[in-house]
Amino acid sequence: MRLDKFLSDMGTGTRSEIKKSIRSGLVTVDGSTVRDPGFHVTSDSAVTLGGEPVGYEDFVYYMLHKPSGVISASDDSRETTVVDLITEQKRKDLFPVGRLDRDTEGLLIITNDGEMAHRLLSPRHHVDKVYFARVRSVDSSDTLLTDSDVQAFRSGLTLPDGLQCLPAELEILSANEARVTIREGKFHQIKRMFLALGFEVIYLKRLSMGPVSLDPALAPGEYRRLTGAELAQLKSI
Ligand code: URA
Repeated sequence: MRLDKFLSDMGTGTRSEIKKSIRSGLVTVDGSTVRDPGFHVTSDSAVTLGGEPVGYEDFVYYMLHKPSGVISASDDSRETTVVDLITEQKRKDLFPVGRLDRDTEGLLIITNDGEMAHRLLSPRHHVDKVYFARVRSVDSSDTLLTDSDVQAFRSGLTLPDGLQCLPAELEILSANEARVTIREGKFHQIKRMFLALGFEVIYLKRLSMGPVSLDPALAPGEYRRLTGAELAQLKSI
């Protein structure tokens, strides 16, 4: 790849700032100063900028505790996106693995590894997604979650628009709170499943995706790198 792309991918500045630094002799490759932004390097090249080594990472993986109010996209001219919250590096190739609604909180993996994202999202791989949901009855009666709702989730709900859901698990935690496990990720899926049974979701949080659970040490809006163990588990899917 080009030297300016190497430095830009690693979030060391804008493309024009980087070109300026290279031309003014601030960048070395394998021990020699290089003034050509198009100079060919590989991810193994030893690059320094202003004397500081810049290692190249092909793939990065973050766990974000998505807060309510941000959108699950990479880039948006008006709205804050989940990728805007990753401030450690300003890589341009990051994206969220799947989408959570604007008002949904919880675990979102952010990466630039398209293959891994595809495996996690592909229905073929049956990756369980676990959510905590708080609901209220749509007709404002004080109807509570009951065993018949558990059965309905288990048998695979048919939504009013005809969508057939795969069997899902509903674990009732209190009168209006439940843990839900689904294996697919259709648009507004959990909200639509509850709505089909007469409930509106008033709070939704993703707790886990396959083998990776939201780190309880992360407050909404905080993120960290996935650990080696988490990554190895994800890659074994
Ligand atoms: N189901 C929903 O309805 N919303 C989400 O954000 C995720 C799953």
